[in-house]
Amino acid sequence: MTIQQIQNLLQYLGYYTITVDGIWGQGSEQATRDFQKAEGLEADGDPGKLTQAALVDAVAKGRFKPQNITQPENGTSAEDDIWAESKYFVRAEFACPCGRCGGFPVEPAPALVRVSNQIREHFGRPMIPSSGVRCQAHNDELPGSVPNSRHVSGRALDFSIPGVPVADVLAYTRQLQTAGKLHYTYEMVGTGHVHIDVD
Ligand SMILES: [Zn+2]
Ligand SMILES: [Zn+2]
Repeated sequence: MTIQQIQNLLQYLGYYTITVDGIWGQGSEQATRDFQKAEGLEADGDPGKLTQAALVDAVAKGRFKPQNITQPENGTSAEDDIWAESKYFVRAEFACPCGRCGGFPVEPAPALVRVSNQIREHFGRPMIPSSGVRCQAHNDELPGSVPNSRHVSGRALDFSIPGVPVADVLAYTRQLQTAGKLHYTYEMVGTGHVHIDVD
């Protein structure tokens, strides 16, 4: 692949936002690094064979740059604010566990953190996240996962509340769905876990 082709693909996917000029520079390197992070690849900024294959695959499958990253304002960001507000959870509990992507190719959506706290508050017992953010690579390697899972955009959480029957948890999360606070919820049958996601 030529530099220009790589820039074109990165631009199409939303990572490269400056002029396609066929010259490798800092902008190209940063875009490559952001793309590699989102894909769970080693983020070295060097578009080698693996990265080029991932680029072609991402274009074919429409894996665009996640858009819910809020730019910092006045030295803080919406994400910082949500963790200051979060009574029961810290950011690390929502991290992708793959060990390759750095944990946060996207930030957990504030609405997800907020509703998770509401569920935790409602039951008054420890609520254990088992899967929050997932990079695309980790999501795709999980059995039965769908490629466009909301976990990949930081909008889903799987969790259990030890000591509370999963049916009781689900009854409450379904109420939240009806109330519009959740986009969707379901029991992960046989695991004792419940999945929730937000718009
Ligand atoms: Zn990951
Ligand atoms: Zn899930």
